[in-house]
Amino acid sequence: MHTVHVPLGNRSYDIKIAPGLIGRIGHECARLKLATRCAIITDTNVGKRYAKAAFNSLATAGFSPSLIIVQPGEAAKSLKTVQSCYDQLAAHRLERKSFIVALGGGVVGDLAGFVAATYLRGIAFVQAPTTLLAQVDSSVGGKVGVNLKAGKNLVGAFYQPKLVLCDLDTLKTLPDREFRAGLAEVIKYGIIYDAKLFAQLERDLPNILKRDQSILAPVILRCCEIKAEVVGQDETDGGLRAILNFGHTIGHAIENISGYGKFLHGEAISIGQVVTAKLSRAIFGLPERDVERIENIFQRASLPVQTRLNSSKRQRLLHAMRLDKKVSDGEIKFVLAEKIGKVAWHQRVPENLIHNALDEVANRKSRR
Ligand code: ADP
Ligand code: ZN
Repeated sequence: MHTVHVPLGNRSYDIKIAPGLIGRIGHECARLKLATRCAIITDTNVGKRYAKAAFNSLATAGFSPSLIIVQPGEAAKSLKTVQSCYDQLAAHRLERKSFIVALGGGVVGDLAGFVAATYLRGIAFVQAPTTLLAQVDSSVGGKVGVNLKAGKNLVGAFYQPKLVLCDLDTLKTLPDREFRAGLAEVIKYGIIYDAKLFAQLERDLPNILKRDQSILAPVILRCCEIKAEVVGQDETDGGLRAILNFGHTIGHAIENISGYGKFLHGEAISIGQVVTAKLSRAIFGLPERDVERIENIFQRASLPVQTRLNSSKRQRLLHAMRLDKKVSDGEIKFVLAEKIGKVAWHQRVPENLIHNALDEVANRKSRR
């Protein structure tokens, strides 16, 4: 078992990474000294595979769990689902010392975390992420929330879990497209923080794509360490945490204008990171060789690296970027790379350079 500590004073917690953790959930939760009544929130896809094991483990450890099952997909991240979860928690008479287990991908984690943050003004919660994306990214760091019609994640909180349990076995049943989308965040950590990790990913990609646990475990561990380090220094997004957003300004805008659903988040930020690498070359002197390495690794992971936008779509893209939550005073700020493993945030980028970078990814010849 690998453990990463997230250092946040009295809100510190551990991330545990190992196969078979769902079957040990009860044992792990018992150490947290919480009340016996608890709830598992999961979705139908994850629930049918893993809810029974989680439920039995909690019951065997002396807890009294109830099971709340939501629909899979982004639509479940709504205030309507939140309301329904509250009603079920109340029916099961959860109390101040009770806790919620978020069993699922990023959608379930964000939703269940928000429910935990607000029910009875906050009860404990444990993340059991079952997607690669959630294991390396969304389950760590305490951002929870739901969507509004006006946009994604517009209602939420910073609310840290008491424990994160990454069960490597759950990745075996993850659909291929979801797995590859998660890799886009993994690669991101290499670009923003760790050139050695990036080189390791280049070398081990074939075995990672085969989901070889002996290769995957240390990679997930390293990503969690990086996220823990970044969040430990900047919990509420005042500075350093912005680097986690590499490729996301463009990625979010791509998700937004293409109608949520066409691209998975990981796919959109794959394109976003490639475009941002080109911007980084133009503004920050990122060597051409690094731009190529970045483009290649996303391509080798079968992630999209190009997008062709007509002029009206392009206008919408720029408009969406200006509306991004991360924009302040109407100015679009980027995280740019100086070299693989080193980035700077809050960089201003003239609009014509964004156009040039988009031209480049639109006109690139597919190497496949
Ligand atoms: P993300 O973690 O990428 O934000 P979601 O929470 O939307 O994504 O999960 C992506 C999809 O994969 C959902 O349909 C979800 O039900 C499904 N899913 C999550 N974890 C697993 C798993 N371990 N095995 C099979 N399907 C899973
Ligand atoms: Zn992301």
